[in-house]
Amino acid sequence: MLLAAAVFPAAPAQAAPKVDCARMKCLALTFDDGPAPATTGKLLTLLKKEKVKATFFVVGKAVEKRPAVLKRTYAEGHEIGNHTYDHPSLPEMMDQEITQQLQITQDAIEGVIGRRPTMFRPPYGHSDDRVLGLAAQEGLAQVKWTATTLDWSLRDTEKITRTVLKLARRNGVILMHDTVPQTVAAMPAVIKELKKRGYQLVTVSQLTAGKPLRAGDKFP
Ligand SMILES: [Zn+2]
Repeated sequence: MLLAAAVFPAAPAQAAPKVDCARMKCLALTFDDGPAPATTGKLLTLLKKEKVKATFFVVGKAVEKRPAVLKRTYAEGHEIGNHTYDHPSLPEMMDQEITQQLQITQDAIEGVIGRRPTMFRPPYGHSDDRVLGLAAQEGLAQVKWTATTLDWSLRDTEKITRTVLKLARRNGVILMHDTVPQTVAAMPAVIKELKKRGYQLVTVSQLTAGKPLRAGDKFP
């Protein structure tokens, strides 16, 4: 199945416009753990309508189940990062297992969109120098966040909305989950208010364009 997808890669993503975050008030919305069955598509439709680009850290296992959703995500100009194959806590694993988690996911993503990600996010934020070194060998920089909404435990649209708005800062990276329906339901109000406050909603690569991330780098 992945082989067939590799023969017909997704159309190249629409080039994300250049945004100068040194001069503009930038903020990156990031969504982990997808592609999810229904919620990711709903989120993509909203982001398209609002002309907002985001970053999706996807799980290899979910990519294998729902390649079409990943293909759409990429084709609509969003950034794709590696979030391991089945979401383990990496520091507890042996070198070979960590490499495998990252590599299989790189392969799965490449099989669908025709490109290998250059950034990964460690599940639960669990990482150390050994994980970082192994990720560097796979060509990956590590991206965590400046603020986590705990949306997966709040599971309440209004609380998630308030939390995101409270945590929003210039050059921030907000961690959310496109697997949580209440998060997706919160996004119309969140995006509207963030725009009102003058934020440019950007991908992680746009946010770091002044000093592009290289393999083995840590951000933020
Ligand atoms: Zn996760």
